[in-house]
Amino acid sequence: MLHTISGFDRIGEENAFAVLARATALASQGKDIINLGIGQPDFKTPGHIVEAAIKALRDGHHGYTPATGLLAAREAVVRRTLTTTGVEVSPENVIIVPGGKVTMFAAILIFGEPGAEILYPDPGFPIYRSMIEFTGATPVPVPIREENAFAFSAEETLALITPKTRLLILNSPANPTGGVTPKTEIEKLVKGLEAHPHVAIMSDEIYDVMTYDGEEHCSLLTFPSIRDRLIVLNGWSKTWAMTGWRMGWSIWPDSLYDKVRKLAVNCWSCVNAPSQFAGIAAIDGPQDDVEKMCRAFDSRRKIVVDGLNSLPGISCATPKGAFYAFPNIKQTGWPAKQLAAALLDEAGVALIGGPDFGILGEGYIRLSYANSEENILRAIERIERFLSK
Ligand code: PLP
Repeated sequence: MLHTISGFDRIGEENAFAVLARATALASQGKDIINLGIGQPDFKTPGHIVEAAIKALRDGHHGYTPATGLLAAREAVVRRTLTTTGVEVSPENVIIVPGGKVTMFAAILIFGEPGAEILYPDPGFPIYRSMIEFTGATPVPVPIREENAFAFSAEETLALITPKTRLLILNSPANPTGGVTPKTEIEKLVKGLEAHPHVAIMSDEIYDVMTYDGEEHCSLLTFPSIRDRLIVLNGWSKTWAMTGWRMGWSIWPDSLYDKVRKLAVNCWSCVNAPSQFAGIAAIDGPQDDVEKMCRAFDSRRKIVVDGLNSLPGISCATPKGAFYAFPNIKQTGWPAKQLAAALLDEAGVALIGGPDFGILGEGYIRLSYANSEENILRAIERIERFLSK
């Protein structure tokens, strides 16, 4: 009998990967599956980024890099941060990590232990809660409500803070809801946080370029009063269609930077060198492909929302960011996970049940509209046929 730590009895998963595996298995049996499950752009990484990685390999960049990433890659992140937020950060506060997830893993590991409380959005990215539970800390869900356009409520968030709160996780634009928290609400939240200096903040801004209808992303970096306890999670996966490259970055306050650096040394050593060169090319090169992709997401967003709202028992609020729709399915009478499973097996449409993103996800399903307009329309037709049966 092997004795492993109890954290592994509590650690969770991301069901999007299980749905992807099932959808792939069904497709390999010859079934026609439309995949609106997994959250990754259906675009290819722009060519000049791929070329930069190939060149790096040809030029002999085959070895370790510094654990925190190549200085040139960190400096590229500094330039990008200045362009998108107007805030100048130091490369000494930037770390290059193997994917956005690694930042949440590190932040939660640094703060989580039994007796500690960590606030996270519900519904929200499932790994937040999974990792909090793994550390033995108490997960405290911050409700993200449809009636609040799936934005954080400053008042509700602040009311959940106790002397035991160590970390508050924010995410805007958000997965799975597509919600964008308005600047005024973030200002209120930051003002309130000034009274709780014991609380660190991890702001997951991985969808920062994907906002629509004139909505603007507001980075937590723009608030100097919390900079000494703010971790910003970002990365290349979504913006430059690089999910498989495993490239993320984060910005850490001085007091935590050495901790994450040591985690890197102990775990991943560094991100593979050619990917870091690709990351530099992504930031410094032309952004036309990013803009084209965001425009495509915007027009698909309208198609998916209109389509969903035409279905019996379904109503879909218009998401203002990311590439997800999170329709309310309560009137269909179906439990969300059962509906998702039935739609995959019987209608050939892969999507995710809301409860995979938290307790408050019941009554909702998540569709990723990172798929072609044609496939989105076919999926809506299939869901309609299924619901009308
Ligand atoms: N944060 C959010 C909100 C996400 O939706 C995702 C991926 O879906 C990540 C982080 C992780 O990104 P990566 O694939 O770079 O690890």
